[in-house]
Amino acid sequence: MKPNKSPTKELSGANMDIDLASQKDISWSQDQCPLNKIENTTTHKCAVKNTSICDYFSGIKPLDTVLCSYPHKH
Ligand code: SF4
Repeated sequence: MKPNKSPTKELSGANMDIDLASQKDISWSQDQCPLNKIENTTTHKCAVKNTSICDYFSGIKPLDTVLCSYPHKH
């Protein structure tokens, strides 16, 4: 755990499931993954629990904003 003056703790090693590919299954608006858009697919996900993290995934900005570096690998 990193030292932090904020009451919010920074805890590393999260096992995340994050995507911008579920527009049809959710009730809130969602931006589109640029890689999915270019390839006209929904297969790319930012993080898949227990499996992988996208090469372009650069983290999360509170509360639910993906930081994506596409087309430059992180
Ligand atoms: S990190 Fe970017 S390119 Fe990778 S899946 Fe998420 S939105 Fe798409």
